[in-house]
Amino acid sequence: MQQDRANSTNFGHMVVLPVTFVGSPRHMNQLYQDSMALVRKFGKPDLFITMTCNPNWPEILHELRPGEEANDRLDLTSRVFNMKLNALLKDLLHNGVLGTTVVDIHVVEWQKWGLPHGHILIILRSQDKSRDNNDYDRMVCAELPDKSTHPELYNIVTFRMLHGPCGVIHLSCPCMVNGACNKGYPKTFQPQTEDSTGNYPTYQRRDDGMTFTHPT
Ligand SMILES: [Zn+2]
Repeated sequence: MQQDRANSTNFGHMVVLPVTFVGSPRHMNQLYQDSMALVRKFGKPDLFITMTCNPNWPEILHELRPGEEANDRLDLTSRVFNMKLNALLKDLLHNGVLGTTVVDIHVVEWQKWGLPHGHILIILRSQDKSRDNNDYDRMVCAELPDKSTHPELYNIVTFRMLHGPCGVIHLSCPCMVNGACNKGYPKTFQPQTEDSTGNYPTYQRRDDGMTFTHPT
């Protein structure tokens, strides 16, 4: 009988990737179960930190060949990102810049256009946990830096870390749902950080005259 070569179900056989195969569903599930076990023992994470690859990092731009963009060189962006992620983890875990870490869990993902980003969950030892508004303000700043005293930081924050532009004049922005930003921007001014128990704290956003307008 002639074999039906057009039927793809006649070829190959199912392969179950074992837990030792890095990135396989079983491997990821094991890491997930480990993470849940840590949370059961040590409690909810204190810090959720995201780090994104910047295609304009000088270490990447210096190595691009003529006509290339960062998106063309995933080997390069991945390596540079990995080095910088390790430097950040060293600051967080070994140097304890935000407190002594009891548990850290991190994962690296790739955005659809190919750049890596990392999510880091950290549980701090009891005496270093955030307990009041001063603790939040010590770790998190949701305000624009002073342009006159910290111009470089102001440029980085306004260029890299602001949400938008969205709103009624940018209805095509992905966050716009039914005419409003689904992330709640622009946020209202907030004289001081307020803790809303069990939820995200409302960070301090003082009306201090610092402004920024997205270039159109
Ligand atoms: Zn928005």
